[in-house]
Amino acid sequence: MSLEEIKTRIAQAETDAGRANGSVELIAVSKVQPNERVDAVLTEGHRCYGENRVQEAAGKWPEFREQFDGIDLHLIGPLQTNKARQAFELFQSIHSVDRPKLAKTIARLAQEMGHCPDLFIQVNTGEEPQKAGIMPREADAFVAECNAMDLPVKGLMCIPPVEEEASLHFALLAKIAERNGLNGLSMGMSSDFEKAISFGATHIRVGSAIFGARAYDTAG
Ligand SMILES: *Cc1c(COP(=O)(O)O)cnc(C)c1O
Repeated sequence: MSLEEIKTRIAQAETDAGRANGSVELIAVSKVQPNERVDAVLTEGHRCYGENRVQEAAGKWPEFREQFDGIDLHLIGPLQTNKARQAFELFQSIHSVDRPKLAKTIARLAQEMGHCPDLFIQVNTGEEPQKAGIMPREADAFVAECNAMDLPVKGLMCIPPVEEEASLHFALLAKIAERNGLNGLSMGMSSDFEKAISFGATHIRVGSAIFGARAYDTAG
């Protein structure tokens, strides 16, 4: 599917949800994609991208930044504290703040460097043991802890369990955000971004629908 088609679908979903056009930010998830595909979407004018690994992003985005102005890069995968400094250099937003130790490291770096990426707190809405994210019942306290450290928390992020109805998770995330006074909702991927928009997503993370299947996704 082309970038234009995705944008048309986003605009339609915004309209259907009674939301203003342009209220949803499209993060084009470029992880694992060949550079030619990313280059093509950059050339089309898109500037907002997501990567899930610091190392991989460090290997390709500095070069793209020499060729294209205004790139806005989002870290959407787990962040180890020992990679936080590098993440500060590469990313304008981090969507995977999920534990006090990481929040404290980010706060320390923010003070030292005088700036901080926009932050999203990842919530493990499905309470899956193998998945990152703060548990829903701990989310309010964690948001408060981040606020107390003056961290620029813009919203919440979730990745629903693959085998469950995503709507339930989008609704839960929206509810936790609302009671904590947060406006940002990073939710929705290739298969369900329209549904996420209907539940209030402000940032959708769309990879394969824009770039095609990732090489390691043999199931497509
Ligand atoms: C890979 C990834 C996406 C994009 O998934 P698609 O199904 O290709 O749209 C979104 N969010 C996260 C956290 C991811 O790791």
